Amino acid sequence: MNNSDILVIGAGVAGMEASLLLANTGKKVYLVEKESLIGGNIIKYEDVFPNMECSTCMIAPKQQEVLQNENIELLMLSTVEKVQGEIGDFTVTVKKKARYVSLVDCIGCGMCYEPCPVSLKNEFEQNLSEKKAIYVPCPGSLPNVPAIDPEYCLQLNGKKTCNACVEACAFGAINLSDKDEKIELKVGAIIVASGFDIVDPIGFPQYGYGKHPNVYTAMEVERLYASNGPTEGKITLRKGDGTPNSIAIIQCVGREQQGYCSSVCCMYSFKLAHYLKDKLPNVKIYDFHSDLCIPGKYYQKFFQDIKDEGINFIYSPVDKIKVEGNEKSLSIEYYNGKDEKEKLSTDMVILSLAMIQGKDTASLSKFLGIEQDKRGFFMNQSIQLGSVDTSKPGIFLTGCAEGPKDIQSSITQAEAAVGKVMSYFQ
Ligand SMILES: Cc1cc2nc3c(=O)[nH]c(=O)nc-3n(C[C@H](O)[C@H](O)[C@H](O)COP(=O)(O)OP(=O)(O)OC[C@H]3O[C@@H](n4cnc5c(N)ncnc54)[C@H](O)[C@@H]3O)c2cc1C
Ligand code: SF4
Ligand code: SF4
Repeated sequence: MNNSDILVIGAGVAGMEASLLLANTGKKVYLVEKESLIGGNIIKYEDVFPNMECSTCMIAPKQQEVLQNENIELLMLSTVEKVQGEIGDFTVTVKKKARYVSLVDCIGCGMCYEPCPVSLKNEFEQNLSEKKAIYVPCPGSLPNVPAIDPEYCLQLNGKKTCNACVEACAFGAINLSDKDEKIELKVGAIIVASGFDIVDPIGFPQYGYGKHPNVYTAMEVERLYASNGPTEGKITLRKGDGTPNSIAIIQCVGREQQGYCSSVCCMYSFKLAHYLKDKLPNVKIYDFHSDLCIPGKYYQKFFQDIKDEGINFIYSPVDKIKVEGNEKSLSIEYYNGKDEKEKLSTDMVILSLAMIQGKDTASLSKFLGIEQDKRGFFMNQSIQLGSVDTSKPGIFLTGCAEGPKDIQSSITQAEAAVGKVMSYFQ
């Protein structure tokens, strides 16, 4: 049997690109995404380096295309549970969780959020804000249709009788009797685009994350700067006097432990420095780095522009940096290029953390029967054989599921994976 329908796992920029390219050749694509929205990590950023393009302007048309393309069957709140067979003839079992809100009837008016009595930390917003048990992760989510978290919904977890959201919805879009489903798919090839996660900053106590409130991760600052984020783009400190007057960015946190360079942290650190100067023109910014990774034909120009904005670059081995302090101010102890100890006071510290394998990599690698590399990402075959091939014919990798990379390289790899698929199933 030679089935040429394709399964794509993960609807980030890489998975969406691969799905659209395949769908536009007439192939049927099943796009499985575990969250209630599509777009992956890049929808968290206001702008993207190197050209500081508006991220939403770049990605929203692709999201809309994915939602509207008749050849793409999008399964959200869904994960792969079992894969059997071989190239041309895979049988895949997908668990699709109930959304409890109709994608057809909901118009995204938001009237159901306010009456919900449950408040939860919003993980999409890096826990910087709260959401209700019926929620969209952020304004502008696509699809703009909420989902209900059954673990916290009082009616669904049986803690209390509640019908408040159902009563608030004038469109009859909420159905609390919705059920999880198991779906069996028959496909000929699989593209894995399940992306990356960020190393846990709690594992690096010397930088004070979790102890000192004004130590942030880079992803938190992405959301603070974003106009659809928890502060609508206002840079405010967790504790203390409103906006910071000085900020230190510490690069390469986690690089030694992970044993690789995440290849985009220098660039996103520069982006954050640029963001912060844009919002707070008088702020002093210090960039602590052990190395600078600024490859390719576009990135040096970006680096030069950032230097011209007056950012102070300080060479210092990252493993010797210590952050101390209190709710009001932070002190950074570091060793300069001559190995001399120095100190610097600052209001805010931002950690540029290593990108690591996505949370589901181990379970997916088991279901798919493909290997992980020593670093935890999915293992591709040697570059001579094809950088998007896995150890199993018919299963291909793309984007950060294969290793840390920027958006441009994620898209290039999506195109390569599609090329491989097309070479099997014309
Ligand atoms: C702080 C920060 C800032 C950055 N800024 C930039 C920038 O300005 N410019 C740039 O070029 N790059 C930037 N990058 C890198 C950029 O984020 C990545 O290149 C890009 O997001 C990779 O896309 P992806 O589709 O491979 O992965 P992701 O964006 O991680 O998407 C993966 C998708 O797969 C889904 N998924 C995961 N597991 C499963 C599963 N088991 N089943 C189904 N679905 C699953 C996820 O929910 C997600 O939707 C930045 C990175 C960081 C950390
Ligand atoms: S039914 Fe659940 S989601 Fe709806 S308002 Fe009540 S607690 Fe919130
Ligand atoms: S479920 Fe109903 S109330 Fe909630 S956003 Fe959709 S249409 Fe509006």
